[in-house]
Amino acid sequence: MLQATLARLWRRAWSLILIEMTAEEVGWLFWPGGHLSLLSKRRAGVILTRVRLVAGLFAVLTPLWIVVDMAVFPAAVWQGLASARVIASLAFGGIVLTRWSIDSYKSLYGALGALLAVPSAFFLFSYAHIASFELHGFQKAMGSGYTFLPFVMLAGLSIFPLTLVECAAFAVPMVAMPLVGAAMTGETDYASLGVTVWLLLLIVSVSALAGLSQLAFMIVFIREAIRDSMTGCFTRNSGEELLDLQFILSARIHAPLSLAFIDLDHFKHINDSFGHEAGDQVLRNATLQLRRHLRAGDILARWGGEEFVLIMPNATMQQARQGLLRVYELGLGAAPDGAPVTASIGVAERLEDNARDWNELVEIADERMYQAKQAGRNRVVGAEALALD
Ligand code: GH3
Ligand code: MG
Ligand code: MG
Repeated sequence: MLQATLARLWRRAWSLILIEMTAEEVGWLFWPGGHLSLLSKRRAGVILTRVRLVAGLFAVLTPLWIVVDMAVFPAAVWQGLASARVIASLAFGGIVLTRWSIDSYKSLYGALGALLAVPSAFFLFSYAHIASFELHGFQKAMGSGYTFLPFVMLAGLSIFPLTLVECAAFAVPMVAMPLVGAAMTGETDYASLGVTVWLLLLIVSVSALAGLSQLAFMIVFIREAIRDSMTGCFTRNSGEELLDLQFILSARIHAPLSLAFIDLDHFKHINDSFGHEAGDQVLRNATLQLRRHLRAGDILARWGGEEFVLIMPNATMQQARQGLLRVYELGLGAAPDGAPVTASIGVAERLEDNARDWNELVEIADERMYQAKQAGRNRVVGAEALALD
């Protein structure tokens, strides 16, 4: 009793802070390891678009500031800064033009790393360069403005939907930068360095929170968009995207890929006899049963009304059929009158059926599902038929 109340309070607390997220989804905020491929791709797309946007903006703005430097600093100072600005601008332009891939973390981190490396290098150069001159008054004040660059960069991290670990990894070099700058110039004012690092850490925390909340929204919205609201299965669109990905992966590593096309038997009869609402409930039950028997990595998508596609990565035809037989043994639930709900299933396998693309794999499985109907329903048809009644 107490345990249940505590669990409820705990869930409520989570949902107040983190919209409506499952424990697994909360884990995705910390580390990208378990992210669904559909989430990874969209997140990478958002991050890369923003990297390009920021790099493009800075490619233009960085050299424009030369005019301000010219107005403020003596020639020796501004000329050094101007050459650094031109180099930084070219580097930012290079980041815009590079073809980063949304499919690999290496590319994603490369893009973000490059975006942060350019101003870091510029900061270290300008810090040492300005410190080598004796500046006074307004010039000194303008010169010290350059030391704020790490603050701007850390605040800028907040526009990326990063996980906590990623945010920390990218922030560490920037928090350390003032220390490196101080070591380079022989600065010994440790008290003010300490305050700087402390402020930088505060800004990182705020940026991380902003990035995490973007990621949280993204996780929830993507889940809503890719899941069918009634059954919780993947929608047909997202199922097609996942199948496309699995097909490419299995072909690349020469692994089997099985696919089952599942159509419930005489479903119209259930609707006609007990009403649409009862039909919906039967549908929800049937998918619950199906999902109960999925292996980790199997993907169930609702293809149409009472039709489902089950994608089984790394499963041979034999293994797929064994898995489906387990489903048959435990059944797909019952209609309101107690009659068992059955399905006709067609199975296809990429290697065995020589499928050239995922469309063909679905077509073959669909054709076999039809054969199962013709043969009397309630059965699995693979390369050869297997009656179950
Ligand atoms: P069989 O597949 O065995 O040939 O017979 P069936 O009665 O299942 O045939 P068919 O595929 O023609 O009919 C499917 C029915 O499923 C028709 C439609 O009214 C019903 N249906 C589709 N989507 C839903 C849904 O979301 N809820 C309910 N309650 N019924 C649905
Ligand atoms: Mg149908
Ligand atoms: Mg049917």
